[in-house]
Amino acid sequence: MGYEEFHRRSIEDPEGFWAEQAQAIHWHRPFDRVLEYADPPFRKWFVGGRTNLCFNAVDRHLDARGDQLALVAISTETGTTRELTYRQLHREVVDFAAVLVALGVGRGDRVVIYMPNMAEAVFAMLACARIGAVHSVVFGGFAAHNLALRIDDARPALLIAADAGSRGGKVIPYKPLVDAACAEAKVPPPKVLIVDRGLAPGWPRVDGRDVDYATLRAAHAGTDVPVEWLESNEPSYLLYTSGTTGRPKGVQRDVGGYAVAMALSMWAIYDVCPGQAMFSTSDVGWAVGHSYNVYGPLIAGATSILYEGLPTAPDAGIWWKICADYGVRTMFSSPTGIRVLKKQDPAFLRKYDLSALRYLFLAGEPLDEPTAQWIDAGLGKTVIDNYWQTETGWPVLTLMPGVEMKPVKFGSPGLPSPGYDLRVIDEATGEAAAPGRKGVLVIRPPLPPGCMTTVWNDDQRFLSSYFSHFDELLYSSLDWAIRDEDGYTFILGRTDDVINVAGHRLGTREIEESVSGHPAVAEAAVIGVADELKGQVPIVFATLKQAASDAERRHQTAGEMMRTVADQLGAVARPARVYLVDALPKTRSGKLLRRSLQALAEARDPGDLSTLDDPNALEEVRRVLARGADAG
Ligand code: AMP
Repeated sequence: MGYEEFHRRSIEDPEGFWAEQAQAIHWHRPFDRVLEYADPPFRKWFVGGRTNLCFNAVDRHLDARGDQLALVAISTETGTTRELTYRQLHREVVDFAAVLVALGVGRGDRVVIYMPNMAEAVFAMLACARIGAVHSVVFGGFAAHNLALRIDDARPALLIAADAGSRGGKVIPYKPLVDAACAEAKVPPPKVLIVDRGLAPGWPRVDGRDVDYATLRAAHAGTDVPVEWLESNEPSYLLYTSGTTGRPKGVQRDVGGYAVAMALSMWAIYDVCPGQAMFSTSDVGWAVGHSYNVYGPLIAGATSILYEGLPTAPDAGIWWKICADYGVRTMFSSPTGIRVLKKQDPAFLRKYDLSALRYLFLAGEPLDEPTAQWIDAGLGKTVIDNYWQTETGWPVLTLMPGVEMKPVKFGSPGLPSPGYDLRVIDEATGEAAAPGRKGVLVIRPPLPPGCMTTVWNDDQRFLSSYFSHFDELLYSSLDWAIRDEDGYTFILGRTDDVINVAGHRLGTREIEESVSGHPAVAEAAVIGVADELKGQVPIVFATLKQAASDAERRHQTAGEMMRTVADQLGAVARPARVYLVDALPKTRSGKLLRRSLQALAEARDPGDLSTLDDPNALEEVRRVLARGADAG
């Protein structure tokens, strides 16, 4: 079956299509109905079916591939490599689950996981899935305030943290961040489980709250922890993501639909069969990490490679060495990762035997053409751009070599994945945009299996954030797009105030709130501006409560603002530059004109200024931009 027919069937006969795909996973109890869609846009896939993500990812493979490698966790930060067969992974996961049970964690309880790319992060996730607890992994690069926000929303029964992460050989202790987050949270977790790698010895223990994983494991190892069979639509995990407000949204995923989407994507998109190896360079804290470092490859019975370290250490050949060592077939990374390598000696691309490597998939941010062409020519492998969002959990736009390899068009992530009924529509009229005309990329619901089911604890926010933009009930991706005559879609950036820094999604509102927390700041506007390496970087325009005329004081205050953001939100959110201005450009109704600011900062035309309240504010911004940043 060719791509067109495959996709058409998924749209015209979703129940038939997904019932077939659902055969790829194990159901403890078969589902009664494929799709229930009585309350749009809420939908339920595989209603009444009972299954478990951990069983599908681990236990199910024990007979056929118990001695095959399941997980390889490589760290060039700690100089360790852990190779685990499915049987060994099973032992680790069941032991971890025994510790969770001993700590009183059960079905439906939330567990926040704050760990870098280490094997125990995967054990912890799968152990939660095994017992029906809902994990919420928080990216290790986020700092205390971000962690506290997520704790207060998820209300975890347990927080699992590593003692420390490490980046470029620099140890980043996590425990002080955990303590600060617990102090800030309104409802801190009653227990904190520390997985200690000995990177930051001597961490102070909070009596009655902090427990040590190795000690508890020694006490409970070997206990049998049975799989908890969950109804297909029960929550499996939460993954927080940024939006237009300062409060992150808990993207909620189900069990059965997600497992089926993972299974389908592994063969159809990533062309990985059982026994083959996939290497994703993502952090487990991101959507790609969940889907293609943990659940996807393991559900498929493949080998998943997890990597903690820089792409350039010990040298810029490390990714390709890993591919050669483990015969990786499909590699998954980000455009920023490739742009980092582009600054290095291209000889590394040819140093290792990459005969097993077939594909390099890149996602998370726009893939610029020069980077795509550079890696395509340098590597001599098929490079496929895929577009997706934390909300979708798997690609929305991609090419699907497992079904039919269509021609690559640089600059476009390709064609719709199965189950995605995509349109590009005119923002004002809600009508389909003609080929070549810019519009908003939308998905006609029901959303396919694997996509978010709702916003955790907030159905209303699910509706208002994604489904309230047009008269017709449509999921707005909040991305601009253009579709060409052949149906290839090109993504042109966000319609909202979300920015993308090195593939990391950040809400400008969150950074503005953090900057405004500095006592000298009256008001702040944060925008993302183009950056050669990271795609975009945040920059700040701020007014002070008391205008500072001398440059030294301005420099000091602006520097403090940058540090405030890094301390509260993490280094990823640290502004690249801070400009102190006397006034910010606003509309007459008081709305910040971020888009005009962004245009000026990127030396573009600021666009329609008819709503501008005070034209002097724009002149002021021009003047300050010409003068140069106060910090950065
Ligand atoms: P996240 O939820 O962090 O994965 O961020 C999702 C956003 O990243 C999307 O809404 C897009 O703005 C952007 N994005 C992800 N993948 C791509 C891609 N392949 N091309 C262009 N933009 C992308």
